[in-house]
Amino acid sequence: MKNGVMMQYFEWNLPNDGTLWTRLKEDAKHLHDIGVTSVWVPPAYKADEQQDEGYAVYDLYDLGEFDQKGTVRTKYGTRGELEEAIAALHENKISVYLDTVMNQKTGADYTEKFMACEVDPENREQVIGPPKQVEGWTGYTFPGRGDKYSDFKWHWYHFTGTDQVYETGKRAIYLIQGEGKKWSEGVDGENGNYDFLIFNDVDFDHPDVAAEMKRWGVWFAETLDADGMRLDALKHIENKFIGDFMHALRDARGKEFYAVGEYWSGDFTDLEAYLDAVDHSVDLFDAPLHYKLFQASQQGRDFDLQTLLADTLVEKYPTLAVTFVDNHDSQRGSSLESQVKAWFKPLAYALILLMKEGYPCIFYGDYYGVKGELSPHRVILDILLDARRSRAFGEQNDYFDHPNTVGLTRTGDQEHPDSGLALLLSNGDDGEKVMDVGEAHAGETWHEITGSFDEEVKIGDDGKALFKVHGGKVAVWTKK
Ligand code: CA
Repeated sequence: MKNGVMMQYFEWNLPNDGTLWTRLKEDAKHLHDIGVTSVWVPPAYKADEQQDEGYAVYDLYDLGEFDQKGTVRTKYGTRGELEEAIAALHENKISVYLDTVMNQKTGADYTEKFMACEVDPENREQVIGPPKQVEGWTGYTFPGRGDKYSDFKWHWYHFTGTDQVYETGKRAIYLIQGEGKKWSEGVDGENGNYDFLIFNDVDFDHPDVAAEMKRWGVWFAETLDADGMRLDALKHIENKFIGDFMHALRDARGKEFYAVGEYWSGDFTDLEAYLDAVDHSVDLFDAPLHYKLFQASQQGRDFDLQTLLADTLVEKYPTLAVTFVDNHDSQRGSSLESQVKAWFKPLAYALILLMKEGYPCIFYGDYYGVKGELSPHRVILDILLDARRSRAFGEQNDYFDHPNTVGLTRTGDQEHPDSGLALLLSNGDDGEKVMDVGEAHAGETWHEITGSFDEEVKIGDDGKALFKVHGGKVAVWTKK
């Protein structure tokens, strides 16, 4: 979609009040008005407890419909409320991407006895101790749902490993023993083999599991009339399964069915290897760019802005990169905390929203705020979203030619009257740069739209002009 913008519509500290779906429904028109074209909704199924964010999956078929785990609704509301929110988003031409958490399950209904070996948490290929019988929380009957939508019942042999064995009184990772049981291939190599992340690790090598998960994925997308998915924890799921899963989804929902995966690594080569392994069937979040933005925000003027896009996904695979500044995992207090500092957020968002490449994703916390406190960034985000919608068209000229002041221009196109812009970022002193916005703009008067400058700039006959930025700030110049 031309100049699409995704919004991640949750943050980690939302209250457990069951109102998110209703608020999303009421917000749909506003989201459309500010230029949001797709919404990533949080995990919509029953977790092990009502207050969970949705990654501690109990029953993937319970979308806030059945009385299970002491609640009908999830943290975010009921299935009916979610369906109403999705209908409202679609009425406003906003696509819906479902958070899809397949790697792990917890909150089992009963224990089972099976054979398992403890493994070294730092090297899961290293077994420590002989196989022994353990009692683990691996049995699922879903008593509140019964057989509705699926009669699949989960048992120990549907998992590769578990940390849900408590009889020894310690937390440990167990590799479940049995015919064909092993950690999956085609997962990240950290810790020897990174198949296991947490809870009961779903065994995608088990044919019944693979078939059931594909069936569920199609059911999930069709039931909620979804336009795409955000795939959680891809480092920990066999890549061959993900390729098959996307085939099944696109057979059912059409080849335009969208997918973006979370493969959390700051190393671009990890992402490249993954994309090759799944035949480029999914986009990936640009974690390397996130880490660049994080470092730049930490280091201030010592960070060389000329390297801001070097070895990022958006630089190497621009059509497969979802660019973002922060998310629920990077925000303060979360598992992968690496929150971009506040002073740099306007610069970071200006870059991802105004440059030609990448599919930008705005974080709920940055737009609406976290823990109920209003975000200081909403005003600038509204300005930048408006600029993306009306100005950020045409070719791009890059000016990443100074350690502390970098910029780019968009030349505009004929389809969008008055489009074209000049962007400058500074992490040091006040800066200025002669930049080319295209001869089509010769003689025009341009002004700065973030409120940094009152003065105006006249574009020369050659399409060039001298643009300015204040130290540590962003400046966006457009036709007046
Ligand atoms: Ca796994």
